[in-house]
Amino acid sequence: MIDFHCHLDLYPDPHAVVRECVAKGMYVLSVTTTPSAWHGTTALSGESPRIRTALGLHPQLVHQRKSELPLFERLLPEARYVGEVGLDGTPEFRASWREQELVFERVLAACRKAGGRVMSVHSRHAASAVLDQLSSQPNAGTAVLHWFSGRRAELKRATDAGCWFSVGVAMLSSKSGRALTADMPRDRVLTESDGPFAQCSGRPSVPWDVSSAIELLADVWGVPPTSVRDTLNANLRRLSSLSNGMGPRSAG
Ligand code: MN
Repeated sequence: MIDFHCHLDLYPDPHAVVRECVAKGMYVLSVTTTPSAWHGTTALSGESPRIRTALGLHPQLVHQRKSELPLFERLLPEARYVGEVGLDGTPEFRASWREQELVFERVLAACRKAGGRVMSVHSRHAASAVLDQLSSQPNAGTAVLHWFSGRRAELKRATDAGCWFSVGVAMLSSKSGRALTADMPRDRVLTESDGPFAQCSGRPSVPWDVSSAIELLADVWGVPPTSVRDTLNANLRRLSSLSNGMGPRSAG
């Protein structure tokens, strides 16, 4: 099972969640919301090679944490993955919109200079602006748009731009989310929990809730769950090899 967007460090008992992930043999991308969380969150994964930590600066925290941008840039050489980064255009965060744009631009520029990264990207009410930025810095790496909720035309644009997508139970439980998922290229889809923020059955989502996402994906794709698992595993292998090709050595 694959959870390509989870906030492991934000669970009340992160070690218990990590132990369960390891016991289940899960692959997890452990995203962070601030650069200052990087070292502590990296330590959580211990010696588990299937748990990867991503360096992030969440758009909803930019108004408080933009001063950590230099720290992001300093830590980036250590980080194979980036996230959670992006833009949030909901009214609640509109006051920081301009700052969010500047920070995301700097994040992408840093990734570009570092030879590219696989990035877990937030684009709530901001899909077009996120795609504008990604297209202006194509060498920043490969974006995995998490919980994509844009319009159909924006999905088409993201697909044409080479973006990947991570989908979870909450998204697959809504009609609009299922319609978007049906239009995504199947060879660029991964599962996610977005725990503990996202809810599943009325409680904070946990990484192994992706088993329900697999069932829902099977329904959307009209194939058996075992075939969904095979597709997702092949996708992760391909994305990992893309990630291995990034970094200073491939920057040329
Ligand atoms: Mn998240």
